[in-house]
Amino acid sequence: MPAKAQEKQKLIDKEGKRIDGRNPDELRPIKIEVGVLSNADGSAYIEQGKCKILAGVYGPRETHPKHLALPDRALLQCRYHMAPFSVEERKSPAPSRREIELSKVIREALEPAVFLEYYPRTSIDLFIEVLQADGGTRGAAITMASLALADAGIPMKDLVVACAAGKVEGKLVLDLSDAEDKLGEADLPVAYMPTIDAVTLLQMDGNLTLEEFEQTVNMALNGCKQIYKIQKEALKAKYVALKEVAEE
Ligand code: UDP
Repeated sequence: MPAKAQEKQKLIDKEGKRIDGRNPDELRPIKIEVGVLSNADGSAYIEQGKCKILAGVYGPRETHPKHLALPDRALLQCRYHMAPFSVEERKSPAPSRREIELSKVIREALEPAVFLEYYPRTSIDLFIEVLQADGGTRGAAITMASLALADAGIPMKDLVVACAAGKVEGKLVLDLSDAEDKLGEADLPVAYMPTIDAVTLLQMDGNLTLEEFEQTVNMALNGCKQIYKIQKEALKAKYVALKEVAEE
């Protein structure tokens, strides 16, 4: 959409509904599938609103390049990549600064959940491909990637679940879409391990008062708790499907 048209776009209507019809504290529709790539050790796919993201996990396996191997634990390597067709304006397939940063941020959000010390000198390689982006891809990628790690049979303390909250036209909102992210006042992504009650990522873009900050963090954590239920169901669904095949 041309920048001028976007400027005029109203993000919250008179009834308090957002551009996609959601209430301020409502998540986008989420669909998650586990075990979608047969060549990977673990994999998952998520649709969150218009975002569509796929991940493959390979390992624990020999580390390449070898000199990166760690003597006391596995090396978690993460590549977040956006397909050239994932956004309206063609994105260069070469890794951008943003993708390099997000690869690091996602790895750091997942690392505390994984028992890396069980696999010294090996590498666990996580490839995230954004097929379609519409805001909040880092959160959706973390939610889905932790399922791909679990699907690879890698022991974890908990699943990591992530979600953003923010401020749009003076209202605090959950799970921002691209337009809300770009035209709103603030965006605050959080990653969380619900069973341990530990936050593994907290970033913020924009401005919030201290009170708004606390409310936004709580809103994002509530979003995480809702997504955690969908995450667990998606993991269980794979094993129900396998059981049905075995019984046939
Ligand atoms: N985006 C885009 N082109 C790019 C990178 C991002 O249009 O080259 C959009 C995309 O929809 C993305 C959104 O901008 O989801 C917000 O990006 P941000 O860096 O805030 O990360 P995200 O919210 O996806 O975690």
